[in-house]
Amino acid sequence: DRSVCDPLPVLGRDVLVPLVTGGEAVYAALDYAASAPALQRVWDDVAGYAPYYGSVHRGAGYLSQLSTDLFENARRTVADFLGCRAEDQVVFTRSTTDSLNLLAAALPQGTRVFVFETEHHASLLPWERRADLAVTYLNAPRTPRQAVDTLEKALAAREPYGPALVCVTGASNVTGELWPVRELAAAAHAHGARIVLDAAQLAPHHPVDIAELDVDWVAFSGHKLYAPFGSGVLAGRADWLQEAGPYLAGGGASRKVARRADGGVDVEWHTTAARHEAGSPNVIGAYAIASACRALTEAGFDGLVAREQELIARVQAGLADVPEVRILSLFGDDAPRVGVISFVVEGWNSSHFAAALSAEYGIGVRDGLFCAHPLVRTLLGSEPQEPGECGAPEAAEAAPGERSLNAIRVSFGAGTPDEHIDRFLR
Ligand code: PMP
Repeated sequence: DRSVCDPLPVLGRDVLVPLVTGGEAVYAALDYAASAPALQRVWDDVAGYAPYYGSVHRGAGYLSQLSTDLFENARRTVADFLGCRAEDQVVFTRSTTDSLNLLAAALPQGTRVFVFETEHHASLLPWERRADLAVTYLNAPRTPRQAVDTLEKALAAREPYGPALVCVTGASNVTGELWPVRELAAAAHAHGARIVLDAAQLAPHHPVDIAELDVDWVAFSGHKLYAPFGSGVLAGRADWLQEAGPYLAGGGASRKVARRADGGVDVEWHTTAARHEAGSPNVIGAYAIASACRALTEAGFDGLVAREQELIARVQAGLADVPEVRILSLFGDDAPRVGVISFVVEGWNSSHFAAALSAEYGIGVRDGLFCAHPLVRTLLGSEPQEPGECGAPEAAEAAPGERSLNAIRVSFGAGTPDEHIDRFLR
């Protein structure tokens, strides 16, 4: 049983198009932080692309040219959505994980990387894959101010350095808390470092303006931004991306290839986003992301944020009425956040609790460590469980009074109807 959500109810349209019953929605998907339901409008736009379907960039035919235009227009739509500067490039990737791995691969030799231990593994780990990068892990801060101070101290302590990068999330996928991105960017730049924003959880909930935040790169995923799976974005400064070798070698990334007299080959790589988009690109994925960007912009973030804040307040108040529940937060329960709330229930194994919500009440939440083991470990004050999977490891029974070893996460966004929240709180 599932339902397709449309986020525009905020603006008065019908909330749900139930697929299974003609009436009430039968399943409450409260796992937007993992993947938000793609908008009906995005599905419609994607279906509307079908008549123009053709290979991009290299085809001489009419459909290829149209398709190329639609693909490149999608890039411009994303650039507008993110408030990109003239010199920025928008690279289409598979996901946030892919975007950050691309950036990691493109960093200049010996770049010093600063990253908080609280990051999602997608922004915590890509830097580990290159032995020449010097990674500094920063302890979890307990206030946004402390985050900035911690970063500033770490940057100052290691000066002088050559190229340096700070990687930070805009909104936590565990606590939903907003991070002081503008202040962190200012600190990074004051010390000659660059900064990449992991906007996987922020972009679906708040406007992200790369120039206004003054960050160097932004990464996000389509499937969390109400588009279907399979596409993501890395947008930002072109220089390091264009000085590095291509992320994948192949057709599309190469402009000219010729045999050399000594028998080898000389390759001239593109200096546009195509440099990192070798192979036939995911045109439909890019088109879907652009469609979602347009839908969110037209719906208006003011209305979406106001509606989401209402839901957050209701969930927080409802959970506060249950004495066994502890909400997880770094910056305190009143800290600004998006619709992502993790908690533990005393005396309950989180996995069993989540399974019961699904099986008995038709509510889909997530349990586990949320691909952020160090953060969840800090929040729970415990060791993460073996086997330490991203998702939901089989938990040992937590006896009453014992600390939980993993957590439950409820997350929602545009299009979440009151009824889903009511059912969850009931
Ligand atoms: N960063 C954050 C903050 C996330 O929440 C996620 C997804 N849970 C990612 C990165 C990775 O996104 P993806 O799985 O789409 O690559």
